Amino acid sequence: MFKALVLTQIEKQTQAEVRQVPLTDLPEGDVLVDVVYSSLNYKDGLAVTGLGKIIRQFPMVPGIDFAGVVSESADPRYQAGDQVILTGWGVGENHWGGMAQKARVNADWLVPMPQECDAAKAMMIGTAGLTAMLCVQALQSAGVTPEAGEVLVTGASGGVGSVAVTLLSQLGYRVVASSGRVEENGEWLKQLGATDVIDRSELEQDSRPLEKQRWAGVVDTVGNKVLATALAQMNYGGSAAICGLAGGFALPTTVMPFILRGVNLLGVDSVSCPFAKRQQAWAQAIALLPERFYEQACQTVELDAVPELAQKIVAGKVTGRVLVKVS
Ligand code: NDP
Repeated sequence: MFKALVLTQIEKQTQAEVRQVPLTDLPEGDVLVDVVYSSLNYKDGLAVTGLGKIIRQFPMVPGIDFAGVVSESADPRYQAGDQVILTGWGVGENHWGGMAQKARVNADWLVPMPQECDAAKAMMIGTAGLTAMLCVQALQSAGVTPEAGEVLVTGASGGVGSVAVTLLSQLGYRVVASSGRVEENGEWLKQLGATDVIDRSELEQDSRPLEKQRWAGVVDTVGNKVLATALAQMNYGGSAAICGLAGGFALPTTVMPFILRGVNLLGVDSVSCPFAKRQQAWAQAIALLPERFYEQACQTVELDAVPELAQKIVAGKVTGRVLVKVS
């Protein structure tokens, strides 16, 4: 038996309960992992509360990421005792996930624990941090240099946002953090590395197709009007890496920023990101994040705190990253 957060559905309402589950209930896969930590991401919030149609088969163990130690492997790439990380691939959505003491998964989905990292640090970074790194790498590949001008990070207090602020500042960019919680989190965002903090409401209004040029780059986790305004404010030739929809999936923009200013819209996905790119992003994130990030930006909770925090994260009320201690 092992401990797991189990989601069931009764009359279309999702119920979450921590309980003991027999090993035989685990799904198929070639690697069995003793999970040490998972983390709470926005998508976990949608899954655990049932507010997003993330899960279609119940019972389901949520947790879109985990770090732990291999206990059995039928794949030559992994041996018992190896430390591994998993993010994405539909785990915690359509395959039992990380919010349990055991997980059985496909070897292809795993990444070996990078040097200088451990399970706790890996999950403080988690899916959100990996995605932030992929966004930053997308901007770098598009030629956005620290000298090009300011980079805007939207949804800055959240998981992706707070890691993006930290990574960009470590790389020498001038980072402007946009937040709906400036009073609460403004100072904290500056401690993470933001040079300036602006109120989300500045970007949430209806924008004209083109506005005064302001941003060399954007990391957007919010979508909707916030992203539309940011695009209208991009510098000539600037790039926006977009990964999220915390403010909605609409994008009420026009073609103007793209056809008159050569703005680039760079879509970022971490779920099906290929292995080599994933491994490289992990290595770079670990190399760049300072020790203070783990202390300043992360809280640790146990499995039974997840349902309440899931409500908070979908309401935009969680700050930074949430590490979930499973074992
Ligand atoms: P968090 O909840 O930690 O962060 C989201 C932040 O967005 C909040 O902290 C808040 O920041 C802001 N926000 C919340 N609600 C609203 C709203 N209604 N309007 C505008 N801003 C809002 O989530 P994560 O960082 O885990 O994820 C962020 C987004 O990125 C999600 O949409 C998630 O699904 C997506 N994502 C995508 C991935 C991919 O592979 N493409 C992978 C990981 C995440 P503040 O208070 O500072 O404004």
